[in-house]
Amino acid sequence: MAKDKTPNLKALVQRKVLGGDFKSQKYMVRKRLYNRSYFFDQGIHFECQRCGVCCTGDPGIIYVGKEEVTRIAEYLSVQVPFFIEKYLFSINKGYSIREHEDGRCSFYENGCTIYPVRPDQCKTFPFWFENLRSVKKWKRICKECPGIGCGPLYSKEQILEIVQSNMDAIVTPEFCMKINENLKNY
Ligand code: SF4
Repeated sequence: MAKDKTPNLKALVQRKVLGGDFKSQKYMVRKRLYNRSYFFDQGIHFECQRCGVCCTGDPGIIYVGKEEVTRIAEYLSVQVPFFIEKYLFSINKGYSIREHEDGRCSFYENGCTIYPVRPDQCKTFPFWFENLRSVKKWKRICKECPGIGCGPLYSKEQILEIVQSNMDAIVTPEFCMKINENLKNY
């Protein structure tokens, strides 16, 4: 079947409203973020100790993109619809993993039972935007995660790459515009 070449109305409206296209907005965010100075300019040592602290505790969102759904379902040898029904609920452009009442991830049983195919959100902890946005937040995470300070050194650029890759799944044109506005004066 021939591909529909009709311009996407939502994209056109966003371009008009944002005064530039989404790609260049994302490029500007990237440039501004990389040119700034951070408390982690000298890098951060990190190696996961598989303690499970970030897989348990307070309830939260464990974002799973559509490709990750397929990957995890295959690993568990179950059909995708069954996997979605039993373990996930819809959120934004993808899903979140259901948790037990105490906030423990459904796949945590004395360790992560899907570790080789765990979602990117889990792989990229603790280098999340929300953890790195202030020294105060980072200090709190340092108290929770025993892997910080261990293992190899992640450079500022590597950390920003991880933050960026994690955000690509959820970033929207409006979000880019907001960040660009906030960073203009730096
Ligand atoms: S809290 Fe840190 S060390 Fe523990 S499992 Fe999570 S990332 Fe690994």
